[in-house]
Amino acid sequence: MKVLFVYNPVAGQLQIKSYLWNILNFFSREKVELTVYATQKSKEAYQLVKKYGAKYDRIICSGGDGTLHEVINGMMETESDNILGYIPAGSVNDFAASLNLPKNKNKAAEIALKGKTKNLDVGKFNDLFFIYVAAFGVFTEVAYETTQEMKNILGRLAYFLQGVKSIASMKTYQVKTIEKGIETEDEYIFGMITNTLSVGSLYKLSDQNVELDDGLFEVTLIKVPHDLMELNLLTNFLLYGKEGNNLVKTFKTDNIEFIFDEPASWTLDGEYGGKPKEVKIEVIEKTINFACE
Ligand SMILES: [Mg+2]
Repeated sequence: MKVLFVYNPVAGQLQIKSYLWNILNFFSREKVELTVYATQKSKEAYQLVKKYGAKYDRIICSGGDGTLHEVINGMMETESDNILGYIPAGSVNDFAASLNLPKNKNKAAEIALKGKTKNLDVGKFNDLFFIYVAAFGVFTEVAYETTQEMKNILGRLAYFLQGVKSIASMKTYQVKTIEKGIETEDEYIFGMITNTLSVGSLYKLSDQNVELDDGLFEVTLIKVPHDLMELNLLTNFLLYGKEGNNLVKTFKTDNIEFIFDEPASWTLDGEYGGKPKEVKIEVIEKTINFACE
């Protein structure tokens, strides 16, 4: 078996460092034909997988959700049905939790190499791809100035909203959405399209059954609060999941279009997703063979 092992050496405070020896030993014991690459800069995992990925039976990546995001984008651009294994090593691993991947790196390496695969859906966002979250919102505009990695997206949103002193100062988005041929226009502070059981601190936004291979993603749109009381209700809802918030709209879709009145910053799996004015999102059903149990 030919395996390409790509890891981010600095992910999650150098988490991989103390496990690398074990992981490489394990791969050698399993007699895989191994190519190892430690990424040195952003987008490298993507370029590597795009260029050479199709030559391997299996691609195993280790790092945070950002590394996974890059590898998936690389894989989506190659015509290959090879398998993806993931050894989570980031500070936030939302998606790994959804897949029940073990935190223990040795166990995760075993699953990555020998685990059963599940054919998972991937989101297409204009010309890019995302595996579990695409989002825009009040805080995404400033987030990237302070940190590359968007940690815990809803926790950050709640934290941001707690600091808001006046509604009028909040950035809002006038957005037209087109879904199943129906056009709706509204003013939002935040929106996200997800395929994951957990997004940050907030475990579930609704009682909807989330499946990673059902051809559907969950949409969450948050309307602009009218006063500070509504804002507090919203913050409590995000932090503690308290009932009765009519600002939050959720539904499932396989295809949705956003048209903003001005360009809006997006995050894709915690990475910067650009600042488009129009966004077309569609679900590509069962397209990545993910080693996950
Ligand atoms: Mg789904």
